[in-house]
Amino acid sequence: MRVVQVAAELAPVAKVGGMGDVMQGLSRALQKMDVDVAIILPKYKSLPSSGIKHLEVIENDLKVPLYNTWHHNTVWKGDIDSLKVFFIESHDSLGLFEGNSIYGGPHELMRFLYFCRATYEFLSQQTETFDILHLHDWHTAALARLFNPEKTKTVLTLHNLSYPGKCQAHDLQAIGLDTAGFEDPDDPTLCNLLRGGIEYADLVTTVSPTYADEMLRGEESLSPMLREHRKKFMGILNGIDYSYWNPEKDPFLPFHYSLHGVSDQKEKLKNHLRNILSLEKNKKPLVASISRLVEQKGPELIKEALLSTLQRGGQFVLLGSSSEERYQKDFQELKSSLAKNKNVYIELTYNEPLSHLVYAAADLFCVPSHFEPCGLTQLIAMRYGTLPLARQTGGLQDTVVDVDDATAPQRQKNGFLFRELTKEALNQTLSRALDYWEKRPDEWKTLIINSMERDSSWNHSSERYYSLYKRLSARASANEGS
Ligand code: ADP
Repeated sequence: MRVVQVAAELAPVAKVGGMGDVMQGLSRALQKMDVDVAIILPKYKSLPSSGIKHLEVIENDLKVPLYNTWHHNTVWKGDIDSLKVFFIESHDSLGLFEGNSIYGGPHELMRFLYFCRATYEFLSQQTETFDILHLHDWHTAALARLFNPEKTKTVLTLHNLSYPGKCQAHDLQAIGLDTAGFEDPDDPTLCNLLRGGIEYADLVTTVSPTYADEMLRGEESLSPMLREHRKKFMGILNGIDYSYWNPEKDPFLPFHYSLHGVSDQKEKLKNHLRNILSLEKNKKPLVASISRLVEQKGPELIKEALLSTLQRGGQFVLLGSSSEERYQKDFQELKSSLAKNKNVYIELTYNEPLSHLVYAAADLFCVPSHFEPCGLTQLIAMRYGTLPLARQTGGLQDTVVDVDDATAPQRQKNGFLFRELTKEALNQTLSRALDYWEKRPDEWKTLIINSMERDSSWNHSSERYYSLYKRLSARASANEGS
């Protein structure tokens, strides 16, 4: 079985959030099941030169049309860990892949529409065929229509329905598509790339069962469209790559641990983190949050959790990245106002090495999202024996089981949940969690064991994708035969 994955991100070289992790983890898990996986990515200027091995040009002059002008492209092939990746380098006059970041900038929409058309041209010229084209989010959704939907079997995964990829009819025309199927549900003058993807893909998945339910029952613009196509829509829970996120071997950690000796090693790591972040050395609980700072993630609740933790005599580490000026400014002000406080550390950048250390050293990990398609940070935290304090929504609800949930089996309990989107609800749960940490250390240890024993790997979910691929390719063979 040959599967081509097309996406805007791939960890660790091109990662902004969870989609990059999913591309890496799912692809590696599929490879272990003997699926021949190829990944196609734009050759962003911001790609690091290290981390990609055996990089070579395999196509010198791929021609791609945009607004009736043909542009030149170079196609590269390289290996990232064990994954085979094709990179499309564009020599267009707009510098579509030239910016310093993957998203944003004046050409964001055209960057990915062009990437779709280039991927289409590249794959169409290959003699090696593929069974399944797996697309991710609006950035690559147009490919479900560029290829003949009768002939090419496509899966579209929705990582976040709140980014639909709205555009104008002429944007689609620029890459040779008409607007049929792409009509925006809210505004008849606009097109909607996810809508078109949902229309033309053979199967549509999202990243957790609860988020799938929320989208089907909800009032989102695309909810009616999903209800119409509910037979081909399902939620498959994301996993994390257990070889990358591994407290026993993580190269970013100075000390390693498994379940055995977890408490002692975490204590050492906590002291190490306190040292490098110049935090006070004491016996306080360490609460952390690692997040993009955007509305979805509940920045006002992250701030509240930070202030409440300090008030209760704990320590807080916040690693937040944001491209949104208002949050950047807001948290910068918070950081300045707490500059002298030795019990708090706020870093407003994307910092992969530090994130590993924080996941490993913290006691409690705060994820107060307004909504969360799956969420990976709570899974990573649990893998490192750090208990999640999360809002009961989407994938957080599917993965975190509250310690005081009387209906849940003891062995599944692994954290703390709150439902209402209010500061009061957050604070009550934070107090409950810190009470456990202070007064019930044995129960806390049991929760650590439960969280580390939870299987958050890709094993189960990659099998589900595999059986979807099988089903689709069997359907394709049956069509060819008839
Ligand atoms: P989303 O994709 O919505 O941002 P997820 O929870 O699915 O959220 O995935 C977030 C990923 O990005 C995790 O791997 C997390 O560790 C990482 N991440 C988020 N913010 C930062 C940051 N400031 N520094 C380092 N890693 C970050």
